[in-house]
Formats: sequence, structure tokens, C-alpha cells
Amino acid sequence: MGSSAEAGRVCSAVWVNLELREFHRGRLEKVDTGLMPELPEVEALALFLRQKLVGRVVARVDVSSISVLKTYDPPVTSLCGLQISDVARHGKFLDIDVDGLHLITHLARAGWLRWRESQPTTLLKPGGKGPISFRVHLDDGSGFDLTEAGTQKKLSVYVVRDPHDVPGIVRLGPDPLSPSFDVGQFRSILTDHGRTQLKGLLRDQSVIAGVGNAYSDEILHVAKLSPFKTAGSLDEAASQSLYDAMRQTLQNAVERSAGLPASELKDDKRAGMRVHGRKGQPCPECGDTVQEVSFADSALQYCPTCQTGGKPLADRRMSRLLK
Ligand SMILES: [Zn+2]
Repeated sequence: MGSSAEAGRVCSAVWVNLELREFHRGRLEKVDTGLMPELPEVEALALFLRQKLVGRVVARVDVSSISVLKTYDPPVTSLCGLQISDVARHGKFLDIDVDGLHLITHLARAGWLRWRESQPTTLLKPGGKGPISFRVHLDDGSGFDLTEAGTQKKLSVYVVRDPHDVPGIVRLGPDPLSPSFDVGQFRSILTDHGRTQLKGLLRDQSVIAGVGNAYSDEILHVAKLSPFKTAGSLDEAASQSLYDAMRQTLQNAVERSAGLPASELKDDKRAGMRVHGRKGQPCPECGDTVQEVSFADSALQYCPTCQTGGKPLADRRMSRLLK
């Protein structure tokens, strides 16, 4: 074996091959089901929890998977006995304000929140194999669990004095639904990232907060733009239509999911998709067949007629590896 740098390269190659094999077996689609919570789902969760939590007192917190807890000061036990005053969203982060302390979570790809009117009082098994990683009990016996179904274990929980103590929140770009986020600001983002492909740009949390793999597919389909087009190549009309598509798609999804209980948000998200996760199905605009191509760590879906002048996109990762 050579240097550690070489070892690192060997490792990453193995990882790519494994992923490719998973892709051939159709497992990659299984992993990326389009159900990862993005801005609209986290917004709906915040709304749902605000109604349930504000005014309640945290009675007990159980942590069964210590790896999900990313902070130790203040300790998680310091939440006990404090009253919840608000629930907010930052990008895809959910922020529960517990009397000035903040319980913040990022659900990542396979995490979810399960609400219970009556929370079981039995202790969670530490390091247990079940999906429940974190459990909050409230003073009236209700509460919620943070669960993780994936093998990647990316669910994260933070207890902080200020939301900006969470590195992922400090790095967030502007919120696309903020009233101050106008088309001028969006155009300067496109100019600043001129060589970035639109699909990657929309998903980059440090550029625009809250959009992930599913809604970026949806936004690009509404705007009738290729996911591989670069940001700098858009003229004024195309920039405006991408901005409008982004605001409209996210706003519609927020309105549709607002008021739904946490348990119904995933199905609602899936039902609302036009192209994302719909490979092989007809495009709702033109009837052409929705296509799929690999992108970064997952796959994207698009309509060739609506978005790429009828031409299929080349699978760059696959063609590179087969050379
Ligand atoms: Zn179409």
C-alpha cells in the first residue's frame, strides 16, 4: 500500500463501484424514494408541531442512539422542565424553541418525526436496533419520536443556545420563500455560480436553503429547463421563469401540506410529484415518457420533450466509469 492519500482514492473508488452496482440492481431508486423531507415538508412539520407543542413543558428526553446527538453543551437534560415557546424552520432544519434553548433536528434522507398523543413511558433501549433514536415526552403524556429508517444514519439532533451554533444553519443560503428573496437576488446568484449546473445549484444548501433532490426536479420541469444547463447560460426570461417556477412549486407544496398531520406528509409529497420518482410514466404536460439519469449521489428525473429539446441526457457517471 502506498501513502494514505492513495488509500483514500482506493476507498472512494470502491464506494463508487458499489453504488453503481446498487444502481444496476435498482436499489438506488429504493434509497432515493423522493420522501426525504425538504422545505415544504419541514415547513408543514413546523406548523403541525407549533399547534401541538407551544405552551407544553418538556418532561423527559430519551436518547437511544447517541450518535444522532451532535452537541453536549448544554446537555440534553437541560431541556427538562422548560416550556416550549415556538417552532421554526431554517432550510431543512426544524427548530423547537424550548424557553430560549433550541432543540434542532435535521431529518436527512431517512429520518422522520412521529407524533403520539400518548407517548409510551417505558425506557428506550440504549443503542437499540429499532428506528427510534430520540424521544421527547411532554407534561401531558404526549410527545414525539425522531426515527431513522436508513442505513446511512444521518439524522442529527442539536441542543444549542442559538440556532447559529449549528454549522449547517450558519452556512444556509437565502430562503426561497422569504418575502425579501426577489428575482434580482436570484439573478445575482445565477451570475455568481455561472458554471454550475442548475440541478446542483438548486440543491446546494449554501446557495438556496431547503430545496433537495425531489423539488429541484419539479422546479426544473415547471421551468422547462435542462438540469444540466449552467446557471450562467440563462437569459433574463429564463432566469425569471426559473425564479417563478421555484417560488410557485414550493409555495404550492407548502399550501397543500399545511395542516396535514406528520404521518400523512410523505404520501402527500409523493402524490404531488410531476416527474420526480416517476421514471417511465407519462409527463403530465406533454405525455412523453419521464426519463432518469444519475446525478451526484442519486438519480434525477426529467421530461425530454419539455426540458431538453427531446434529447436524452447522457449518464455521465456511467460513461466515465465504463471508459
Ligand atoms: Zn413533458
